[in-house]
Amino acid sequence: YQGKRGTADIVVYSGDGIGHSHQWLVVQAELRHALERGELVLHYQPKVNLADGEVRALEALVRWQHPQRGLVPPGDFLPAAEHSGLIVPLTEWVLRRALTDQVGWSAAGQQWAVSVNVSARNLEVPGFPELVANLLAETGTPARRLVLEVTETALAGDGEAAARVIGEIAALGVGISVDDFGAGYTSLSHLREVPVDEIKIDRGFVSDVIDDPRSRAIVRSVIELAHGLGSRATAEGVETAEIYRWLVEAGCDEAQGYLIGRPVPWPQVAPEFEVPKTV
Ligand code: C2E
Ligand code: CA
Ligand code: CA
Ligand code: CA
Repeated sequence: YQGKRGTADIVVYSGDGIGHSHQWLVVQAELRHALERGELVLHYQPKVNLADGEVRALEALVRWQHPQRGLVPPGDFLPAAEHSGLIVPLTEWVLRRALTDQVGWSAAGQQWAVSVNVSARNLEVPGFPELVANLLAETGTPARRLVLEVTETALAGDGEAAARVIGEIAALGVGISVDDFGAGYTSLSHLREVPVDEIKIDRGFVSDVIDDPRSRAIVRSVIELAHGLGSRATAEGVETAEIYRWLVEAGCDEAQGYLIGRPVPWPQVAPEFEVPKTV
């Protein structure tokens, strides 16, 4: 793949000494096999309503169950997948798996939506909205039970094209979420063009709200921005009860983080989280 972003992306890939182009190619070939052999798995992390602690949705987070290396986190192979274009079949696999699992927990009596992360590359592939529509039909999932998480950077990427593709997906009834908000390029102008159902406040701000007045001001503003746009504000990376309580008081809608639940296979997700009491 000769992408417009060139080869500079390779430096992103680190860990066990990988970073040389030879090993890079090995990872790509292995990943292709992993997809064929069914070595990828999805773990799910709950998003809860901050007011009552009820689970609203599960976010699908991909892992590679590697025969020798064990459970490999996405940060170790997604850059290779993006660079090689394998992200396209990988996302299709994730979507189909996630929608199938959603049908599974619905049958078990849980009305949770499923959130799927989509990379900037997916938005550039012609026919992506059609693929989403086909997978909804194939699995029999109502569109409102699917949310696609797109990073701010992906929105900023090829601006207008990305906004148009997202508009087409939203028109299906699928929810659109802006991931890692505040961490990427400032692209407030894209929020005018894209119908957004959820804004996820980046963990970097959320984790600092107790100690840092500036982070508090930013989080409060993003909550207000989300509400002004008719969207939900979701805080990511909530690790302490103190932060949870602060978010409730700040009027944030939903939360996600290790305090509430780590990513696990879906049958292990607890349907409710006990809301920390105000002291
Ligand atoms: P993300 O979408 O921002 O997902 C949140 C990441 O933060 C996850 O890491 C999650 O395990 C971690 N996390 C959740 N709560 C906490 C917390 O309280 N504290 C801390 N320190 N971390 C927390 P993970 O699973 O390693 O995923 C990393 C990134 O990989 C994701 O970031 C997402 O950008 C990407 N990713 C994961 N699965 C997929 C996928 O299926 N497709 C695409 N395109 N990207 C994916
Ligand atoms: Ca996400
Ligand atoms: Ca995120
Ligand atoms: Ca993140």
